[in-house]
Amino acid sequence: MRRGKLVVGNWKMNGGLEANASLLVALLAGWTPSAERSLAVCAPFPYLGQVRDALTGSKLAWGAQDLSPHSAGAYTGDVAGAMIAEFGCRYVLAGHSERRQLHGETDALVAAKAKAALAAGLTPLVCVGETLAERDGAGWQTVVGRQFDAIAAALAADLARVVLAYEPVWAIGTGRTASPAQAQEVHAFLRQRLQKSSAEAVQVLYGGSVKAGNAGALFAMPDVDGGLVGGASLDAVEFLAIAGA
Ligand code: PEP
Repeated sequence: MRRGKLVVGNWKMNGGLEANASLLVALLAGWTPSAERSLAVCAPFPYLGQVRDALTGSKLAWGAQDLSPHSAGAYTGDVAGAMIAEFGCRYVLAGHSERRQLHGETDALVAAKAKAALAAGLTPLVCVGETLAERDGAGWQTVVGRQFDAIAAALAADLARVVLAYEPVWAIGTGRTASPAQAQEVHAFLRQRLQKSSAEAVQVLYGGSVKAGNAGALFAMPDVDGGLVGGASLDAVEFLAIAGA
């Protein structure tokens, strides 16, 4: 059975103690929990304690934006899933396109990170998506299919425990959103692959310049189970409007 819609804010490398406090207060004041809609924010590592203190006991969940594939050891600067879990996180992003592009993360590394997240009791929110050059070249089916297959092969039956996010790279932070039909086409493709692996209950979120003005049409698509929201998640009014769309 499919679950309700999930909207997750990715703060990226933005925020500060003061700005976060105002944002969290506004989210807590404005969010009306419902059985059909869930809301979460993914904050930079240094702020996970602040987010935990603000959101504990509320209906808002929180998470981190990356994790190490390793559980502990000589990995200077890295953060293990168990450390993130200690801060009450439910989610952690894995394979965001900015990690894939700026840090050279491969499909195999993303799959290892998703596995490490599950081992730490976290829900990995695994991102897939093609660049414009890939869409025009090999085609999104080839790229998204390859990214999905790497995760499915590594996780096997545990694939049912992840959240997927389709984020076309050409739509992230560009103001250029996939049309609802374009998003639905890719989500249906992912759903079909999930069904083949008996993981059809997995939520598949759309990400890429989601705003209050386009969220309703995107979320109305039958295979779009919510959104992963970057820039617009830093504005409480806009983010709440997206969450309610
Ligand atoms: C993201 O960071 O995952 C994202 C989708 O960003 P934006 O909403 O700003 O395009």
